[in-house]
Amino acid sequence: LKKIGVLTSGGDAPGMNNAIAGVVKSAHAKGIEVFGIKDGYKGLINGWFTKLDSDFTLDIISKGGTVLGSARLPEFKEESVRQKAVDQLRKHGIEALVVIGGDGSYMGAQRLTEMGINCVGLPGTIDNDIVSSDYTIGFDTALNTVIESVDKIRDTMTSHNRAAVVEVMGNRCGDLVTYAAIGTQAEVFSPSESKLTEEEICIQVKKLADINHRSVIILISEKQFDAKALAKKIQEVSGYDTRATILGHTQRGGRPTGMDRYLAFTAAMFAVEKLIAGEGGLYIGIENNQLVARDIESTLNMPKPDRTQIINKIRILNSKQIK
Ligand code: ATP
Repeated sequence: LKKIGVLTSGGDAPGMNNAIAGVVKSAHAKGIEVFGIKDGYKGLINGWFTKLDSDFTLDIISKGGTVLGSARLPEFKEESVRQKAVDQLRKHGIEALVVIGGDGSYMGAQRLTEMGINCVGLPGTIDNDIVSSDYTIGFDTALNTVIESVDKIRDTMTSHNRAAVVEVMGNRCGDLVTYAAIGTQAEVFSPSESKLTEEEICIQVKKLADINHRSVIILISEKQFDAKALAKKIQEVSGYDTRATILGHTQRGGRPTGMDRYLAFTAAMFAVEKLIAGEGGLYIGIENNQLVARDIESTLNMPKPDRTQIINKIRILNSKQIK
């Protein structure tokens, strides 16, 4: 193996730059050149390749986002479009690829592997929605951002005896809500996997109002409710002056935490080892604190971890506050 490429695809996530650094350093240590591909699969079909040097890694490891840029290219599902990517790679002598992104990106990596370019995927997304990895690159940073924001919202809600609906990202995965609810002791939380109805939320907040609870945080996963309309309803039912905050893209940016840097860098090292061994169509995850490599096809069909037990236990603890 003489030349490999690295790209970031799908939504950006803090830690992606550490994964890029991991690829560059471990490949260079084996005398392999690394080409950064701009804007994911879009750059791949257009030949937007830049040779990366080792010095570059120190400049990027404390930055959020992805220095390579990311894009979505739905047409990559078509074989004729992917053929352009294969042609570009062959033209530049790039034999294998590391793809950092979510599960859509792995499908692209799998298809490219089938067309003769070995690809290994790394789990880069704040959503923690890649079932074959306990954690994804970016999740820990986003979780800390959510917790910091909710702590700040709590300060003002407590000062004014208010309630706050806080909408959190996660796509269809409620882990950011569940973990942040535990971290901030949010009184009410509705993660994607264990949704509450508007009525259930209002009843819970009303019970807290009845015991003069000073402030209430209601954490909700995105794509469930209209946060402002929900806040209005809660105010009507409970009497709390209720505000809505959509945390939005603050959750996507920021300096990666130590945990994200560690996961990203070590997973990247493992990915390069797999490419050197001539393997492709793989995806790297972390399971019980061990890096694991699995076939992309099999990881996409794994069942989601069941969080209902922990969610229910936390809800019971919360309800015990209400005498
Ligand atoms: P995120 O979780 O942040 O959304 P993702 O990688 O799942 O990340 P997608 O938009 O689903 O994001 O996929 C990223 C890109 O991967 C797509 O724009 C497309 O170029 C490619 N891709 C997705 N699905 C396929 C597929 N079935 N075959 C080939 N390429 C695909």
